[in-house]
Amino acid sequence: MEAKYYEKRDDKLKCTLCPNECVINPGKAGICKVRVNHGGKLTLPYFAKIVAFGVDPIEKKPLYHYHPGKTILSIGFPGCSLQCPFCQNYSISQYTDTPGETIYPNELVKMTEQKHSFGIAYTYSEPAIHIEYVLEAGRLARERGLSNVLVSNGYLNPEPAEELLELMDAANIDLKGFNPDFYRRELKGKLQPVLDFITIAAKKTTLEVTTLVIPGKNDSPEEIDQIAGFLASLDKNIPLHLSCYFPHYKYSAPPTDPAAVRRLAEVARRRLNYVYLGNVGGMETNTYCPSCGNLLIRRRGYYTETKGIKDGKCSGCGEIIPIVGV
Ligand code: SF4
Repeated sequence: MEAKYYEKRDDKLKCTLCPNECVINPGKAGICKVRVNHGGKLTLPYFAKIVAFGVDPIEKKPLYHYHPGKTILSIGFPGCSLQCPFCQNYSISQYTDTPGETIYPNELVKMTEQKHSFGIAYTYSEPAIHIEYVLEAGRLARERGLSNVLVSNGYLNPEPAEELLELMDAANIDLKGFNPDFYRRELKGKLQPVLDFITIAAKKTTLEVTTLVIPGKNDSPEEIDQIAGFLASLDKNIPLHLSCYFPHYKYSAPPTDPAAVRRLAEVARRRLNYVYLGNVGGMETNTYCPSCGNLLIRRRGYYTETKGIKDGKCSGCGEIIPIVGV
């Protein structure tokens, strides 16, 4: 199958999907490993190869402000456009030979209906480098009245970003720090395109953002304040998830102390209305009214109970609560 978003450069091809803009020699793949120059065309040898599949609580994405308490059919693909040395899903994101199953978009939509899921989450690794699949499945899903949810690193050029986000009902985007050097040195990417993607996503879809807090890398109060300030400049109701890191892949530093993340959450709450702790086991991660402090949604692990929202408003003070599906 032929890919979208590329240009010919003699016998080489320049992929313009993500900011890596790989110039790919004949017979070779781009950095993401899944877009290949074959016979002068950019091709997709892993189209419809699904390497992770599940029916998850929507809170696991994490999405806390989109149909709380529901489960969603979730799929993952091989490859990634970034090379995070702490990747929590590196066995699928950094390799293409992980065993998988071929599920074409029309089959996926059928399975979603058979499993009585309200939608599809494109998640686990990096769905945006499989944009052709996600667009096709997303269009079919929408025709059937199903929701589309994107979980992504946000590392995409603006034109494909607009096309992809047009079909997404909700998204959780990683913002892995606010330091361009961290993005360049550790992730082999750039910060600004991710900020641009988040800016587009804030206009087009129900958006939440996740930052994996890594000790000594991106955990200064100043950096968290910058992240919160950037999101607040778009909309102070964008939920920010500050997740605890655990040693994975090439990183062996000890896990993040939840107490430290709790302090950083207080920093972010000076600018944002909804800040959550993530990867904290069974600890409560409730939603409170930003106006009167009323308990709106109680969560423990993936157990969710809506307590204080009536007709889209806080039952205590009447503040409008921008949570979809309650
Ligand atoms: S999508 Fe893949 S091939 Fe295209 S520019 Fe990005 S990393 Fe390179």
